[in-house]
Amino acid sequence: MDIQQPTADPHAEIREEVRKLCARFPGEYWRELDARRGYPTEFVNALTESGYLAALIPEEFGGAGLPLAGAAAILEEIQASGCNGAACHAQMYIMGTILRHGSPAQKAQYLPAIAEGKLRLQAFGVTEPTSGTDTTALRTTARREGDKYIINGQKIWTSRAEHSDLMLLLARTTPRDQVAKKTEGLSTFIVDMRTAKGLTIRPIRTMMNHNSCEVFFDNMEVPAENLLGVEGKGFRYILDGMNAERLLIAAECIGDAKWFIAKASAYAKERVLFGRPIGQNQGVQFPIAKAYAQMRAAEAIVEKGLAKFAAGQNCGEEANMGKMLAAEASWAAGEACVNTHGGFGFAEEYDIERKFRETRLYQVAPISTNLILSYIGEHVLGMPRSY
Ligand SMILES: Cc1cc2nc3c(=O)[nH]c(=O)nc-3n(C[C@H](O)[C@H](O)[C@H](O)COP(=O)(O)OP(=O)(O)OC[C@H]3O[C@@H](n4cnc5c(N)ncnc54)[C@H](O)[C@@H]3O)c2cc1C
Repeated sequence: MDIQQPTADPHAEIREEVRKLCARFPGEYWRELDARRGYPTEFVNALTESGYLAALIPEEFGGAGLPLAGAAAILEEIQASGCNGAACHAQMYIMGTILRHGSPAQKAQYLPAIAEGKLRLQAFGVTEPTSGTDTTALRTTARREGDKYIINGQKIWTSRAEHSDLMLLLARTTPRDQVAKKTEGLSTFIVDMRTAKGLTIRPIRTMMNHNSCEVFFDNMEVPAENLLGVEGKGFRYILDGMNAERLLIAAECIGDAKWFIAKASAYAKERVLFGRPIGQNQGVQFPIAKAYAQMRAAEAIVEKGLAKFAAGQNCGEEANMGKMLAAEASWAAGEACVNTHGGFGFAEEYDIERKFRETRLYQVAPISTNLILSYIGEHVLGMPRSY
């Protein structure tokens, strides 16, 4: 079953092309990588060569200059094809921080090379083991010494660190007790991991293949020219990119939901037990139908968020709600898909259990559902801040 876009879609052609590319990377490819927690280098290269990972880089820097909705369409199709965009999705939105806050020299140095595929900017070092969601409590420090910064500390869950050339890093440049607001005194750096000394990367084995790592900085030197924007304002730069990130992750969840729903409804029609297709039983049919309704609702909100983003309006409400609802829809669709397949839902060769593990992440990362509900409670409904 092909789940169509609900409205006339300006990105129909891109979707079609992405689907064709993904068809070259079938379930066996992902299963083999999943078993050894390998990185899908060939898949990422194919996306890079086709220009998809440079979708949001403006044409003047060698990218496709697509609106955010174009990037969302690409990621959705990747997931709906059974592939996993987590191997490279961050490049799409991390790049935005350089684009918005980088100096002309930094943009000229990095963006064309990223667009061309010569440089990978896949790693985003924000989360730390002790601070977690409480980002401004992070402990990694960057101390200025002449024309460089000396970085000390640790990050956790830095995905793709082993497979990226560059990392966007958030570190504290002024101690928390010396700033008026705890959001001040944090700075953002571009770290060239190919040459950095004092950098240790340790992979963390997780329930799905996500290439996440612990990263340690021991007097790591970063040239002062790699500071993005103004020292002390880095938290604001990271926040600036979060709506785009949430909308893109939501698009991935919608893609996952479509994959599960297509797979479940097809199987429900063909599996015959007790002399009739199992999909004739409402106990099988309704959870799939419900997940479909949830997915369409999330999709409508994400579309609204993408339109607001393109119009330069504040899309915080839609980005947060869309991400939460899409992650819940993909999970509901995954549940329905496993149940519909009975025992076969657990067999690796069906790819359902793999996708099920992969999509679970998005209720926790890059932001947990609780924190989204806090956003809605505080910023949309005007209730008191809970933290
Ligand atoms: C596979 C994977 C990949 C990741 N990739 C990256 C990456 O590339 N870069 C990066 O920087 N980070 C990454 N992360 C980190 C991710 O963003 C965090 O795991 C997430 O933000 C939650 O933080 P935490 O794990 O520290 O949980 P905690 O902050 O310890 O939270 C634990 C629980 O408490 C809840 N909670 C906390 N505070 C509140 C509150 N005030 N009100 C209500 N509930 C609350 C949370 O919702 C959560 O359920 C990744 C994580 C995973 C698992």
